[in-house]
Amino acid sequence: MVPGTVTMYVCGPTVYDVPHIGHGRFVLVFDILRRYLEHLGLAVVHVSNITDVDDKILKRAAEEGREPWDVAATYEGVWWDTLEALNVLRPTHVPHATDYIAKMIAFIETLVEAGKAYPSSDGVYFEVSGVPDYGLLAHQSLESLRSGARVEANENKRSQLDFALWKLTPEDRWAWDSPWGRGRPGWHTECVVMSEDLLGQSFDIHGGGSDLMFPHHENERAQAACLGHDFAHIWVHNGFLVAGTEKMSKSLGNFITLPELVGSNDPRSYRLLVLQAHYRSPLAVSVDLAADGARALARIDQALGRLQGEGLAGAEPDASLMAAFHEAMDNDLDTPAATALLFQSVTRLNSLLDQNDRDGAAAVGAAVASFCSVLGLSALPAAAEIPAEVAELFARREQARADRDYALSDTLRDQLAQLGWVVEDAKGGGVLKPKLA
Ligand SMILES: [Zn+2]
Repeated sequence: MVPGTVTMYVCGPTVYDVPHIGHGRFVLVFDILRRYLEHLGLAVVHVSNITDVDDKILKRAAEEGREPWDVAATYEGVWWDTLEALNVLRPTHVPHATDYIAKMIAFIETLVEAGKAYPSSDGVYFEVSGVPDYGLLAHQSLESLRSGARVEANENKRSQLDFALWKLTPEDRWAWDSPWGRGRPGWHTECVVMSEDLLGQSFDIHGGGSDLMFPHHENERAQAACLGHDFAHIWVHNGFLVAGTEKMSKSLGNFITLPELVGSNDPRSYRLLVLQAHYRSPLAVSVDLAADGARALARIDQALGRLQGEGLAGAEPDASLMAAFHEAMDNDLDTPAATALLFQSVTRLNSLLDQNDRDGAAAVGAAVASFCSVLGLSALPAAAEIPAEVAELFARREQARADRDYALSDTLRDQLAQLGWVVEDAKGGGVLKPKLA
């Protein structure tokens, strides 16, 4: 390990369909964690995989009469477009399962040689009874996992909890040769091999949704632990999604995909919903809640627009606000507290601007801008870059409105319109926006 560097592996998507809203939560939670660690001055090596070989991809390909790699490439494209819209930073490394087949085969051979795995008539299985603390992540003993397991009986396994490392699929065209026969790797092996290859046998954080805790993460950990590897030091699991103000389901016809949710509103509004719940708590999501979020974001943009209009952007952030922000984020990433602080600071910024306390507004405004940047809530650069001439006209127009000089205010608004900027009046002051073409 390198001091000052955080190594983090986050389980990525299986690319067989358009991403759902739950995918959005995990990418946002780990994007926020990464941004905060980088804000603290740490270098983050962030690895997140793409599972591009899987039963679901093969099924989709058969349904659509396409090649599986074509299906995977299509949905991987949708994945990155959606993450870009969500302002999610790209991982440092994005390993693909199909690029790791040889390394996975070598790893499975090591497990077989060590007596931890055994070949069977339909594949190679990992023997969980060989791992003394199996069940650690689920906080359950091997015995209670066994009695609760709803795994289909399979006579090729020594125990029902044993899991496949390599599946023999000699009839499939999409298969690879191995010492045990043609087939493809199991998902649990993919993540161990990729994380250890890119981050080493001992790394800092392993993340994913809480639905992955068992069996996926337990089975990853078991494969590494039985070989004496440290593997991940900290496991981070984000909570489930729950229906928002109304139930969202495919059968009710109001189910929306992640790109639909992102496209229905300000793309930052889903990030704001994620921030307003603690990462381990359940999260309610609906189009209505996202619309509320978009209105709250407009309040932030508007306050920062005023600050910029007054020529007060870019000062040193208020030290006590920054300390309060760090205190919240250091407390197991308490983003609800950090977000509450952000909105309180926006209110304070507006009142300082109203009172014409320029130094106070500059310091509080800089803290607001810093919170937004760390949390990934900053307005898109195109909207934030306001030419000096426009900023000056906007400031004069805001002053005219404050002075109730409506004739002058309207004249200045027209001049701004000619330069391609619109002013939307709201409670705390005008909001300056570039005119859409
Ligand atoms: Zn994984």
